[in-house]
Amino acid sequence: MSTPTGFMEYRRQIPADRDPLERLKDWEEFHKHLSEEELRTQGARCMDCGTPYCHTGIEMTGGTSGCPVHNLIPEWNQLVYRGLWQEALERLHKTNNFPEFTGRVCPAPCEGSCTVGLIGQPVTIKTIEEAIIERGFEEGWVKPDPPAQRTGKHVAVVGSGPAGLACAAQLNKAGHSVTVFERSDRLGGLLTYGIPTMKLEKQVVDRRIQLLEAEGIQFVTNTEIGKDIPADQLVASHDAVVLCGGATKPREFQIEGSNLHGIHYAMDYLNGTIKSYLDSNLEDGQYINAEGKDVIVIGGGDTGTDCVATALRHGCRSVTQFGTHAKAPLERDASTNPWPQFPNVYTLDYAHEEAKALYGRDPREFSIMTTKFVGDEDGQVKELHTVQIERIVDETGRKIYQPIPGTERVFPAQLVLIAIGFDGPEQTIAGQLGLATDRRTNVKADYGKYATNVGKVFAAGDMRRGQSLVVWAINEGREAAREVDRYLMGTTLLP
Ligand SMILES: Cc1cc2nc3c(=O)[nH]c(=O)nc-3n(C[C@H](O)[C@H](O)[C@H](O)COP(=O)(O)OP(=O)(O)OC[C@H]3O[C@@H](n4cnc5c(N)ncnc54)[C@H](O)[C@@H]3O)c2cc1C
Ligand code: SF4
Repeated sequence: MSTPTGFMEYRRQIPADRDPLERLKDWEEFHKHLSEEELRTQGARCMDCGTPYCHTGIEMTGGTSGCPVHNLIPEWNQLVYRGLWQEALERLHKTNNFPEFTGRVCPAPCEGSCTVGLIGQPVTIKTIEEAIIERGFEEGWVKPDPPAQRTGKHVAVVGSGPAGLACAAQLNKAGHSVTVFERSDRLGGLLTYGIPTMKLEKQVVDRRIQLLEAEGIQFVTNTEIGKDIPADQLVASHDAVVLCGGATKPREFQIEGSNLHGIHYAMDYLNGTIKSYLDSNLEDGQYINAEGKDVIVIGGGDTGTDCVATALRHGCRSVTQFGTHAKAPLERDASTNPWPQFPNVYTLDYAHEEAKALYGRDPREFSIMTTKFVGDEDGQVKELHTVQIERIVDETGRKIYQPIPGTERVFPAQLVLIAIGFDGPEQTIAGQLGLATDRRTNVKADYGKYATNVGKVFAAGDMRRGQSLVVWAINEGREAAREVDRYLMGTTLLP
């Protein structure tokens, strides 16, 4: 136990973010860090409770409760409290290959299920996680650790997102020769092209990939499996193949006027900016620019929020984010959303704080539906028509959204970004290999097993479970590696 009474003596502290108006002037990460003393005090708040829920990692009523990679949170909290940082790092790396990613971008379902949260504010687990790994890099404790011997087995991993990277790291540890194929020009999947630099600077991704390369993993970029290399050829030339291609087929939004100019998918908008920023510090102009425009983001999720932050940095005139969901309550409603479920409460994410600092209001509109787009004589979008909606149960028992008469509004917009989610993975590889898919078109493979209906072929991450979280992708990549190792060697020591 850290201290028996730490959770009663010390208040929760999280690092302050950079000033919103200051950080809008650049594309760098927005979070700051706690001092060593502050971190040790926060570690002392962990009660090391008899049955910790923080590391359970289960799905509950559509959300995640506890840590999906089952981080040994109470153990490293205590080690941090005692100043034993290297030992804490060893514990952390036992369960998580990439704590520097989760420590930055994870929504921290561990904190939602922390037992201290039952009677007060939860332990600052995510902040401590990031501090442990960054201390490890600073001290030079994180070094390449190639396997002592090779098994002679060759495994291909398709996709270099967190699932593919975690899978490759674990298979390499077991001594297999691993090649990761990536269709993009840069490695990292959505860690690189998707999540904006403000949440995750790309040198953090590159730093980890350099370590994996030094451990012996081969990376091949600009190579699309199913196009540049036929999928069956890849399977024939390897002992096993793990598909970690993600699930980024955009969900279409077909209403009146949706073909007008100025209406784009969120991923085209976000990725254009990230690529241009990384290639030329935005000097090549090869991105959709929101400068001087009224921007509407359709979609109340994280992708939409990242669009808001990006539009603000482009210098938009105004930005509004639409969500069909109602505004969340200020405090967890214990009757409908009890602990240890992920708490559904009203918060301002980084982009909303920035918009509020700039324009004086939360940029979100809740319970709203777009009914049509209207364009000018050149076919350029100029306004959106909307109506407020409410969720009702229809006569068949289904929950549906119903428009509220008299709540129609018109919003000016010269740029509209569609961020309403994803419709599963692209189907090229599944078609070429005859892979079974589930009703959401994800590659069918049981959780915990990862084997598809085609011999030698496994699937993990978003490509198997649908668009999710980085921490679930790491969990699936690690577990798929264990199953591939078992398949290749008859037994496995991988966790
Ligand atoms: C804008 C955005 C922001 C997000 N923010 C967060 C966040 O803050 N926190 C969080 O936890 N999660 C976040 N997510 C979700 C998270 O990024 C994903 O769940 C996670 O990256 C999935 O990992 P993955 O490895 O399964 O797939 P991906 O990261 O999608 O990687 C798949 C890779 O496979 C490659 N690929 C696909 N097909 C082929 C092929 N045929 N040949 C070769 N390569 C191929 C793709 O180019 C891609 O690089 C966000 C998602 C988006 C879209
Ligand atoms: S990976 Fe996410 S859920 Fe797990 S300990 Fe870190 S912040 Fe919490």
